[in-house]
Amino acid sequence: MLSIDDIKKEYILKFDHHTHTIYSRVGPYLHGKGRIIDNARAAAKRGLESLAITDHGPSDFYGLSIKRLPQMRRDIAQAKLSFPKLKVYLGVEADIVDTENGLDVSPEDFDKFDFVNAGYHYVPKCHMIHNFLSFHMPWPEKLKDRLRRQNTARIVKALKSNDINILTHPGDKAYIDEHAVAKACEETGTLVEINARHKHPNADDLRIYKQYDVKFVISSDAHKPKNVGRYAETMALALEAGIDPDRIVNIQKR
Ligand SMILES: [Zn+2]
Ligand SMILES: [Zn+2]
Repeated sequence: MLSIDDIKKEYILKFDHHTHTIYSRVGPYLHGKGRIIDNARAAAKRGLESLAITDHGPSDFYGLSIKRLPQMRRDIAQAKLSFPKLKVYLGVEADIVDTENGLDVSPEDFDKFDFVNAGYHYVPKCHMIHNFLSFHMPWPEKLKDRLRRQNTARIVKALKSNDINILTHPGDKAYIDEHAVAKACEETGTLVEINARHKHPNADDLRIYKQYDVKFVISSDAHKPKNVGRYAETMALALEAGIDPDRIVNIQKR
């Protein structure tokens, strides 16, 4: 069993493609705490090759506004000037919801981003109250099973209807059938995220995902600049689950 220090000595993180900034906000309340330039500075300091700014989808309470994307692009251009060796992408963490394409980012808006990640959150159109209660309180098994089926169907539909880069924190915030979700990631070539901030996927979940022909990605899901590029504890979790480091697309041996 490698210690966290051993992991840092042995493996490096090449990129972090899931981070949040002050563009995730509700009015004056900032859900993401840093500016784009602050995340870029942290990524450059950590020696990352690339960084993605992936604020929450527009249906989230503190989601980004499509109208502000030109400003985000300008901020990214500024960050690139300040840190020329770092690539900075504009992505989004879309919400998986009940819409025609299963996301709160419509197909027409896809090209406004360099890529789209997607995940489950407590937003309208996701059976929000039921998912929240079932996940945080004792809840009848029968109802849990029904939600699990619904949530799984929604994720599979979103994966198959869109070109999604990363499925963020699968199994967090809502019960799912990991086997069916893993199969859909395998069929669509979607990266399975191992997330530094959430409880899922945990080692047991990862032991299911690794049985399928999927690739993994480690993300900090940083909401503060100081957490950009955090990976060692998450890498420890991946190793605990027996995932071959070669299957994690942004991990490299020193
Ligand atoms: Zn998320
Ligand atoms: Zn996130």
